[in-house]
Amino acid sequence: MAAQPPSGAWESVDGPILPYARQSISPDDVRAVADTVASDWLTQGPKISAFEAAMAERCGAKFAVAVASGTAGLHLGAIALGLAPGKRLWTSPNTFVASANCGRYCGATVDFVDIDPATLNLGIDALRKKLETARAENRLPDVVVPVHFSGRPCEMAAIGALAKTFGFAVMEDAAHAVGATDEAAPVGACRHSDLTVFSFHPVKILTAGEGGMILTNRADLYERLAELRSHGITRDPSRMIGPSDGPWYYEQLGLGFHYRITDIQCALGLSQMKRLDAFLARRRELAARYDRLLDGLPVVRPALDRLDDSSWHLYVIRIPATAAARADVFGRLQADGIGVNVHYIPVHTQPSYRELGFAGGDFREAERYYAEAISLPMFAALTDRDQARVAERLGRALA
Ligand SMILES: *Cc1c(COP(=O)(O)O)cnc(C)c1O
Repeated sequence: MAAQPPSGAWESVDGPILPYARQSISPDDVRAVADTVASDWLTQGPKISAFEAAMAERCGAKFAVAVASGTAGLHLGAIALGLAPGKRLWTSPNTFVASANCGRYCGATVDFVDIDPATLNLGIDALRKKLETARAENRLPDVVVPVHFSGRPCEMAAIGALAKTFGFAVMEDAAHAVGATDEAAPVGACRHSDLTVFSFHPVKILTAGEGGMILTNRADLYERLAELRSHGITRDPSRMIGPSDGPWYYEQLGLGFHYRITDIQCALGLSQMKRLDAFLARRRELAARYDRLLDGLPVVRPALDRLDDSSWHLYVIRIPATAAARADVFGRLQADGIGVNVHYIPVHTQPSYRELGFAGGDFREAERYYAEAISLPMFAALTDRDQARVAERLGRALA
């Protein structure tokens, strides 16, 4: 990961490398964290439930469970949806490994659905075809994990319709998509899914330092998730198997984890939420501005058809093999102080997935896309001046 210079270093790009993504911390954020550190509750206090309530309200979901990371959220979601040995999870190959690993933690079998090159999300036609084949072979998935890659929402109504027809659960990996909308509903409303999982890692839209949140409208899942994040323990007498021995009594109902988040982290997340709309507006503005700045360069720019629906976690361009070698362009930009990145190495080509039998060539669209992709700097605090410099340096790197 690129070295991160201190806040406020963005007036100038002449010094440290411009990162591809970065948190934006305000004096109010600092105060909120300091106040919490000085309060009675460092963890398991009022900030956690306040953050959960604020996010549930913002998304229009009934329940929210804050956890230690997005990955912890995906793991608990996978368990709550019943993944276990003999069960199957399908996801996109164009994602961070966590979207697939959550199935493997449960002993489930993981498979992938190739992407639609126009959206870079799991392809709806590819999903339908794979489901038809799987039905004929009696190998239908139990859980499908669509990933809102770069913040561009998947077509959830279509996925939800397939879920009904073919009988699988849906867990949205919305690590990139806090604040994105699909058909005028916030991602996280879970209109067409069972669960939605957010991440609050510093590179994402909002940060809590580390952290994650699971949204759902299902009370049964909510209760399971809340127990699973804390060792499988309940203190609610109505959930207990036996009679309570007294006020100290708790029961461990199943095998859970310590996946809790802290009040300190939630104080930051809650404070950041006040600027969520400003973050989104700035990211959308930067995406539209990149589109103009890069016009005329031999690169494929992201589609702007969902400009205002996407949360624009990433701005990914593609360098067609005919224009220049991606690695050369990447190297020149890095040497020029532009902290580019690549999202994502197709998960099925990772050694840990090749061991399971996957091979290069299995998901050709994801692989073709990967060979051409570069993520340019994109974060709310990116200045117009720095962005213009990225475009200018890209032009030079391509020349
Ligand atoms: C960041 C990310 C995760 C994991 O989130 P953490 O909070 O880092 O555990 C999962 N999926 C995707 C697509 C991500 O980008």
